[in-house]
Amino acid sequence: MTFRAHYRCGEGCDFQAELTEVVYRCPRCGGLLEVEHDVAALAGRSPDDWKALFDGRFRTGPWPLGSGVWGKKEWVYPQLSLSSVVSMYEGGSPLLRVDRYAREIGLEDVWVKECGVTHTGSFKDLGMTVLVSAVQEMRARGTPIRAVACASTGDTSAALSAYCAAAGIPSVVLLPRGKISTAQLVQPIANGALVLELDTDFDGCMRVVQALSETPDIYLANSMNSLRIEGQKTASIEIAQQLGWRSPDWIVIPGGNLGNASAVAKGFLLMKALGVVDRLPRLVVAQAAAANPLFLATTAAGVPPTPSVEVKPVAAQRTLASAIQIGAPVSARRALRGLAALDGLVEQATEQELADAAARADRAGLFTCPHTGVALAALESLAARGVVKRGDRVVVISTAHGLKFSDFKVGYHDATLPGLAAPLRNPAVRVAASLGAVQDAIAARHGKG
Ligand SMILES: *Cc1c(COP(=O)(O)O)cnc(C)c1O
Ligand SMILES: [Zn+2]
Repeated sequence: MTFRAHYRCGEGCDFQAELTEVVYRCPRCGGLLEVEHDVAALAGRSPDDWKALFDGRFRTGPWPLGSGVWGKKEWVYPQLSLSSVVSMYEGGSPLLRVDRYAREIGLEDVWVKECGVTHTGSFKDLGMTVLVSAVQEMRARGTPIRAVACASTGDTSAALSAYCAAAGIPSVVLLPRGKISTAQLVQPIANGALVLELDTDFDGCMRVVQALSETPDIYLANSMNSLRIEGQKTASIEIAQQLGWRSPDWIVIPGGNLGNASAVAKGFLLMKALGVVDRLPRLVVAQAAAANPLFLATTAAGVPPTPSVEVKPVAAQRTLASAIQIGAPVSARRALRGLAALDGLVEQATEQELADAAARADRAGLFTCPHTGVALAALESLAARGVVKRGDRVVVISTAHGLKFSDFKVGYHDATLPGLAAPLRNPAVRVAASLGAVQDAIAARHGKG
């Protein structure tokens, strides 16, 4: 059986292109492109056969099919030649049931999909493996691509540089100076990318990189490039797979540029269309209150998310959730389509709420990044309001590894985050180097033996 996918205009006009063409927007209407699969051909294989195929490859099988993304190649980029794949064994991340945390917030069936447990520490690896593999294939066919470039709030640049370094493809990353964590900045530096720090915010970097990629020899790696969505979509397929090919009741995800939220929706819609799951989950997109254009356009305005909602750009304020400090989300329309299809909701979280939610989850054994804190805070608020019910099964998408955001953690526990209280702080206790002092400290915390 041969499967094929191509670009189609996401706004419904009839523009189509091959995935090996250098094109990001519809030349007719300016809409973003979507990768469209031949669903009729995919439906020629039964749901049970797809499940068996994917289960047989999951974290095993010949390279690179053990990758969570490439194990689902037929649903991602079917006609790509395997020799073009640039993989870091991405995906296959843990889906954890977090019972202690769930009990604390009045729920019983909460899971965390640890998308940050991966090569560069964020879910961006899932999309970047597809994009860089596609570039590898285009270069092999003689397309003159000099470098791959992105604007980034930190994690995209880390993923792009790593995959490009593995393939020997030059990469250029544009970062807002002073607005990303040290761990994020050092990743592209270490991987040999050309790292450009611009005195602007993410939206400013995005404008420059879009202009830069008008020349076709600089290939654009931001998530307006829908190849990335295809890889990111596999996180939702893995969630269903890890739950025994069932959908949860809710998926909660932090959203900035809103590519990942649309990817998750796209994955569930494909699984439902092919009968691999029998129903769709409801989707919650959580934004930081400091950068909340989607929230303002929907929930705050009392308007349900539908494709006809207009998302007005805002000036994103500083937020601890730096990877979602985005005021003009490029994939807003895609996300609105996904939200409408998955009976979705848009929530927001303040800095205090996201910091406390992250600390609360950490106390139950996690090590959450601030963006995951935004999603958890949204869940806490939905649970408190009874929208999410006690027995509902919820999967929270954790987007990055907490170790990339150690400044945030240290700041919380030292109570030095400006303007924030730290009710759940657990600062280190300085004691004399003696048995007695250590015993006293233990007694003070845990009582006398
Ligand atoms: C990129 C990123 C997000 C936001 O994803 P979008 O697709 O831009 O909505 C959230 N969290 C982390 C850690 C990220 O790196
Ligand atoms: Zn179009």
